[in-house]
Amino acid sequence: MTGQTNRGAPLQEVDVLVAGLGPGGCVAALAAHAEGFSTLAVEARGPEATRPQLVLVRPGARAALQQIQVHDVTEGRRTTTLRHVENRLRRTVEAAANPATAAPPRSAFDLHWHTSVVRLEPRIDGVLATLRDELAGTERRVLARHVVDAAGGRLESLGRPARAPAGPGHVVVIAEYATPPWFGSLVGVRDPATHELYSLFPTWKRQSVIAYLDTPPRQQVDGAALIRRFESIAARLELGPPLQPLQAIDVAQLLLPRSADDRVIAIGDAVGTVDVLLGAGASAAIEDGIDAVRGIAAARRDRSPRGSQSHLRATSERILARHRSWARRGRLMLALRPLFERVWPRAPLTAVERGTVGPPPLLWAAVRFVCGRRPQPS
Ligand SMILES: Cc1cc2nc3c(=O)[nH]c(=O)nc-3n(C[C@H](O)[C@H](O)[C@H](O)COP(=O)(O)OP(=O)(O)OC[C@H]3O[C@@H](n4cnc5c(N)ncnc54)[C@H](O)[C@@H]3O)c2cc1C
Repeated sequence: MTGQTNRGAPLQEVDVLVAGLGPGGCVAALAAHAEGFSTLAVEARGPEATRPQLVLVRPGARAALQQIQVHDVTEGRRTTTLRHVENRLRRTVEAAANPATAAPPRSAFDLHWHTSVVRLEPRIDGVLATLRDELAGTERRVLARHVVDAAGGRLESLGRPARAPAGPGHVVVIAEYATPPWFGSLVGVRDPATHELYSLFPTWKRQSVIAYLDTPPRQQVDGAALIRRFESIAARLELGPPLQPLQAIDVAQLLLPRSADDRVIAIGDAVGTVDVLLGAGASAAIEDGIDAVRGIAAARRDRSPRGSQSHLRATSERILARHRSWARRGRLMLALRPLFERVWPRAPLTAVERGTVGPPPLLWAAVRFVCGRRPQPS
């Protein structure tokens, strides 16, 4: 549907427009508001997050969250779900945007759910963005001095640089089941013939179970057949119906070929996706969100147009360099997959039962080591 643009309405002007409120966008919006910038944050979908994937909030992301006064997002746990992190951040964004609950600084902070960025046009003094209200079907325009592209790569269709594969294809199925787990921590099994890994994680308070089916990289996978196999394993383990529709997703890493434009800074998945075996996508997006706003603040302090531009460019370069580094680690992780596959119990996935699904103690210890210590309460 093409929206009706109200061209007679006065043009809203903001310092920072944040497109997308995943973890990266929420952090960028909160940081921009904390810097005293007039901020407009828009999210194409509604306020409730639903994605079940397991998230390790890494030390760098934890430190970034502390800077915007979001302490201990995992509430004392080492890992949590993306849904939990996103909802926690979104409630913080809502509180900051609500004049009744907002803490100082009280710079203008507008928040709109069900609102997509549908066009970005560079101007000398900023970026002219067209926003569509997805419920009303109307469009309006906003002049933003700076745009943070936190839309997870979905603004590529607007002429933003497209990300290119930076690693082999890697297909996974992931689902959450409202089944209380019958196991203590991570458990799983590997199929010695197909080299597929099946893992089960209990969620917080052991209320539900997240299941992953991970196929070896570089394989041509029949997604429909993989989902049928996933469903039959869930049936054998009596996990019940999945909470979301199943999808076989190729999580091949994608990376921007070059850094973003000066006034539109891309962050998080919009710059590059990180292989799921690293469990670092959300943490990278959180760190980028802070970094982007710090770069915008430095650019605004610099009175010369050239100096200001070089701050923005350096910021995009730094964010891209972070994702290049994650992409390298992701490729290494995939290359090492045959090694860590060995620590899992073996069983044909067609014959999985509760007794054949077991813990990989070495792997879990390594994950805990890599992800760092949980901060001690102060
Ligand atoms: C199967 C799978 C498993 C994963 N497992 C893990 C894991 O274990 N650990 C981990 O850390 N990460 C994991 N990830 C990656 C993680 O989900 C992402 O890296 C993270 O969500 C990126 O955050 P983001 O803020 O950059 O973008 P996103 O979370 O993608 O958020 C983008 C937001 O922008 C909105 N949007 C899109 N287009 C527009 C528009 N035009 N206008 C306005 N809003 C828009 C979207 O609705 C969305 O809410 C996994 C990903 C997948 C697919």
